[in-house]
Amino acid sequence: MDQTPHIQDRAALIRSGDRRALSRAITLIESARADHRAEALELLATLRAPGHEALRIGLSGTPGVGKSTFIEAFGLMLTGQGLRVAVLAVDPSSTRSGGSILGDKTRMERLSRDPLAFIRPSPSQTQLGGVARRTREAVALCEAAGFDVILIETVGVGQSETLVSGMADIFLLLLAPAGGDELQGVKRGIMELADLILVNKADGDLKPAALRTLSDYSGALQLLRRRPQDKPGFPKALPVSSITGDGLAGAWDDIRTLTAWRKDQGHWTLNRTAQARLWFEDEVRSALLARLTHDAKLRHEMERLGREVEGGLPPALAAERLLARLT
Ligand code: GDP
Repeated sequence: MDQTPHIQDRAALIRSGDRRALSRAITLIESARADHRAEALELLATLRAPGHEALRIGLSGTPGVGKSTFIEAFGLMLTGQGLRVAVLAVDPSSTRSGGSILGDKTRMERLSRDPLAFIRPSPSQTQLGGVARRTREAVALCEAAGFDVILIETVGVGQSETLVSGMADIFLLLLAPAGGDELQGVKRGIMELADLILVNKADGDLKPAALRTLSDYSGALQLLRRRPQDKPGFPKALPVSSITGDGLAGAWDDIRTLTAWRKDQGHWTLNRTAQARLWFEDEVRSALLARLTHDAKLRHEMERLGREVEGGLPPALAAERLLARLT
């Protein structure tokens, strides 16, 4: 690809760890303007060179379980070990209300001031597909910028967990101690994504309830079918406290143990290549959808064929005719 020096300079700045350059690049990939899009793709292609691989950790939990508190404590523990940590958020709420649960600037105050950390709140987007693209590309930028750990956070709503686990190497589910004896309404499908379930707030008065919740979930995990990428003993549930810091070092040890095993067994690479493929297919699907919505000729043709369907043309045949126009 023919690259302007401009893009090369920006790529070099990002690679050197310049946080302003990284921030600006993320703003660029979030833009819907066609010229920005072209520039963003060129930048991503320039930065593509392999070499550094970050550990991508997906983290999900309903509002109030302590995600920000956990990320702040866990992130500071990692930066304390000299690791560079990036935090990205996928916030499906911002797609509906325009307001973002995860975008609050006051969250993770200490971590955000840490020179080894980079925190990027979720932008408001119009649809989950847009959020997916932006987050995948932001992950790629952070990886090129040399971060060791990239935390991708999401609120437990709808499809966002699936989306985040589809771009992570390890997926964590954060829970709070439950009052009742039910499994907190956590859907089985979400539990099936988890590599580690962390029962947060295992401190003070909440500790007994946290330990009960822990044992409920440990039991529930036993009933799940083992996946090929599960090291024996995983997925597992652990108690943590993001306030006292108890259990955080143990969780990090487990993450590293599981990561090392997956690399050794080839699951790491398999997962990454499958994710790249899924990303490609998603891009194709959304580009096709965008053409259907924005291409005036196609829209007109769809309208025309729609009327023919009302007049008796078989819908499948009409669809075939429209699709033929795409090629
Ligand atoms: P988020 O909505 O998931 O980001 O949750 P927050 O991090 O904002 O935490 C929600 C509330 O739970 C806050 O009042 C926190 O202080 C509290 N909290 C978070 N982690 C812990 C913990 O480990 N122990 C206790 N006791 N409270 C916690």
